Amino acid sequence: MNVLLIGSGGREHAIAKTLAKSPLLSTLFVAPGNPGMMEIAEPVVLKIENHQAVIDFCRLQAIGLVVIGPEVPLVAGLTDPLVAAGIKVFGPSQAAAQLEGSKNFTKQFCLEHGIPTAQAQSFDEAAPAKAYAATRPLPIVVKADGLAAGKGVVVAATHAEAEAAIDQIFAGGIGGNGLLIEDFLEGEEASFFALCDGTSALPFASAQDHKRVGEGDTGANTGGMGAYSPAPVMDAAMTERVIDEIITPTVKGMAARGTPFKGMLFAGLMIGPAGPKLIEYNVRFGDPETQVMLPRLQDDLLALLLACAEGHLPQKPLHFADEVALTVVLAAKGYPEAPQKGSEIRGVEKAASLPGVSLTHAGTRREGTKLLADGGRVLNVTGLGKDVAEARERAYAAVDLIDWPEGFCRHDIGWRALQRN
Ligand code: ATP
Repeated sequence: MNVLLIGSGGREHAIAKTLAKSPLLSTLFVAPGNPGMMEIAEPVVLKIENHQAVIDFCRLQAIGLVVIGPEVPLVAGLTDPLVAAGIKVFGPSQAAAQLEGSKNFTKQFCLEHGIPTAQAQSFDEAAPAKAYAATRPLPIVVKADGLAAGKGVVVAATHAEAEAAIDQIFAGGIGGNGLLIEDFLEGEEASFFALCDGTSALPFASAQDHKRVGEGDTGANTGGMGAYSPAPVMDAAMTERVIDEIITPTVKGMAARGTPFKGMLFAGLMIGPAGPKLIEYNVRFGDPETQVMLPRLQDDLLALLLACAEGHLPQKPLHFADEVALTVVLAAKGYPEAPQKGSEIRGVEKAASLPGVSLTHAGTRREGTKLLADGGRVLNVTGLGKDVAEARERAYAAVDLIDWPEGFCRHDIGWRALQRN
């Protein structure tokens, strides 16, 4: 089968590597892809916003499955016209992608279906939002309604900070023109993933990421500076609760409202004293969580993604290696505010050849034989090991072989998991 994978990040490189192992795969096309994928996939220049161009390409190349990596094309509704044209897609419809595209929608949905989440109120004007915020205990969370690439959430320590965040969201039109004021949840964050075929969910894996740019989880929010899987806090009992209290009611509720969810349901959770609560939904694989989940997967990813698209996921548990994967993100200096592009990176092949190491590209570009930095997050170095300590040792040993003075990484990825041991 020919497959079209949309995206260009570390997530898509990890998906591409895993799809390439499938006996079902003939040719893997990537739009646009990145230099790391060029040995396993054919790059395609496609304007993804032009849905008809994507349909035409799929027809020309007899694409059996389109796999949409990032959230933006999903929320923009790429799935629907493809499906209407008879093309199979891994990724939710525009209506189902609201679970990520609108925090307001998800909050209402949670209320209607009894899904545990933080108490919140939505507003489309600043004054009543500020008045409400003033009545809530601190800290308080201010969230833009729509997609904001990780810049739409402020955890305010004071009411003045909350007011400033409210003004900023409305003045800057960040994430549309609405916001939520949400109570702060105490606990430990974790991510849980489930494949969905519209009527049922198949538990995939758990992970924990490191969103802040600085060591000790300090500094600006980023797309993610590292992750590991599985998340120790997601033991069997907690996983069962998350499936029963959050994932299953979501899949059932989405089907009941006529917007069945097909694709990867990615729950951002707070595991607190009262049990798991939903912080947010994403409607696709995570980045960098995918880089730590897929190297452990022992089943055929292509068969699974196709089963989601076709609406008949198998109901038997998936197989994952009994190992821990830990990924370290290498970013260009200046990230996330102003990453410097164009510097040369050496030693990548040597790093990738270490045992128990898997390396994926994100913001890279080739110029002749040189590999150059071309984005904020540039490389992901994943170590696999019997436990977090070994996975981490392998990942950082590989990082040490990469010669890139203009790049940086966090040196404490996995600290929380290590502290548990
Ligand atoms: P992402 O960065 O994953 O795109 P986002 O912008 O969609 O995130 P959320 O995931 O809802 O927004 O929030 C970002 C972060 O803010 C969370 O990972 C969490 O650390 C913190 N956060 C959000 N809501 C709460 C809450 N109610 N209580 C405590 N912390 C919260």
